[in-house]
Amino acid sequence: MNEHQRHVKARESILRGETPEKRIFVSFEDPKEKKAREKQIKEERKRSNERIEALKEAKMPWFCPECDKVMKSRLDDKMYRLHNHCFDCQVKFENKLRIEGKYEEWEEQKVLNNQLSYIRDQIESIEDWKDETSKPFEVFDQVGVKDIELQTEKWSQNTEKVEEMSNEALEELSKLKEDVEEKLNSFAI
Ligand SMILES: [Zn+2]
Repeated sequence: MNEHQRHVKARESILRGETPEKRIFVSFEDPKEKKAREKQIKEERKRSNERIEALKEAKMPWFCPECDKVMKSRLDDKMYRLHNHCFDCQVKFENKLRIEGKYEEWEEQKVLNNQLSYIRDQIESIEDWKDETSKPFEVFDQVGVKDIELQTEKWSQNTEKVEEMSNEALEELSKLKEDVEEKLNSFAI
């Protein structure tokens, strides 16, 4: 699959409301630098695991800040992390939106905002990668979400090819970003 096909695929899955496979672009450096990079990735992974652990351990309050109900279920835990109140409060909130006929709009906005933040991440990572185009590079496909595993794909194309690929990808992404922003703006009116 070439870069263009990947982006068409990513675009399709974004439009279906899914999260496409995340790609991390890292420049391929000399063995010493590569080792340092691998060490860095390992440390970042360790830090991110530690953050996840810390989040798991971070206690949710005993009582819902909105309704004062005791929060004890896993659903309460999830909702508290996402929306700062208990599951029942979230159900009430969503029901209210449904009654007011605003639920679909709210949900669509939520999906669009997620898409936008995904697109922004991708643009940023490609721009970083483009900055380092003077060197051969490798691409890691991130597989699995829980424990970040990296699959390596090595390329040795020249700078011109990198430039071409990143411009193509950036063009696709900025088009996509405009589409999503336009949709989001239509809600703001
Ligand atoms: Zn509550």
